[in-house]
Amino acid sequence: MDQIFDRALEQNPQSAELLKAFRPVITLQRKLAESLTLPALDYSAIDPERLRAGVPVNRQIDLFSGEEDLKEVALALADAVVEGLPSLAGDMHHLSEWIAAGKIRPADFLKTAANAEDGAALKHPDASPSNASFLMSLVARVVLETRAKEVAKVLEGYAWEKGYCPVCGSFPSIALIEEQGGKRFLHCSACGRDWRYTRVICPCCEKEAQSGMEYYYVENKTQESAFICDQCKKYLVTLYRAGRLLARDMDVSAISLVHLDMILQDKGYEPMAVCVWNTLR
Ligand SMILES: [Zn+2]
Ligand SMILES: [Zn+2]
Repeated sequence: MDQIFDRALEQNPQSAELLKAFRPVITLQRKLAESLTLPALDYSAIDPERLRAGVPVNRQIDLFSGEEDLKEVALALADAVVEGLPSLAGDMHHLSEWIAAGKIRPADFLKTAANAEDGAALKHPDASPSNASFLMSLVARVVLETRAKEVAKVLEGYAWEKGYCPVCGSFPSIALIEEQGGKRFLHCSACGRDWRYTRVICPCCEKEAQSGMEYYYVENKTQESAFICDQCKKYLVTLYRAGRLLARDMDVSAISLVHLDMILQDKGYEPMAVCVWNTLR
């Protein structure tokens, strides 16, 4: 991760502030997702027919059981937030106190939020709801990334033809097009899953293009672009990859290209997936 961040900083000096702000959090999230032990889920309940019909895994089984032990994960992430975003220190301190004392149980909250129609808000008298949700979304990513890796084995060989994530149902935050073969892969920032999707259909509204899709480019930067859909008015930042030599983290890439988000949002388009970095203004 260190190399990935160093290279991103070198190549995208315009995003340095955001990259530095998210570096401690993302580095820790990847580490936690490697080592986190979660209670076993019964993936045999996933129905291939429903997958084929476009029902993602999280709508077939509960990816948040409520039994996860996430106290240490949440406390460590709160510390990482303070490291990158010192202005949030006060709120993170208040939230950490309650989490440490067991007054907030992240596993309960995430289970409730996953089953609520419009999500759920975490309430603390001294912390802003948006900062509380931010912390919980960081915890959720670690759990979902761990689950997405487990689910990957189940999904192997099954068809998935939707523009939203097969694991958690979120829309993609960034896409990658391979130079060789030209395949497009969509990336989900909620769980980290990547999946292949046709290049001639909008992932969001499924509009099919008659003659190729419209892409927005910044001058002199042929590897960075954004797919734009004039039907649903959404955009998707898209990266072209020449080779597989360098390790890449798609969330770091998305943060690196946040200048495209700003340009497209100024033109009246909305991101397919709302992420903390593309809504920070
Ligand atoms: Zn996902
Ligand atoms: Zn569309």
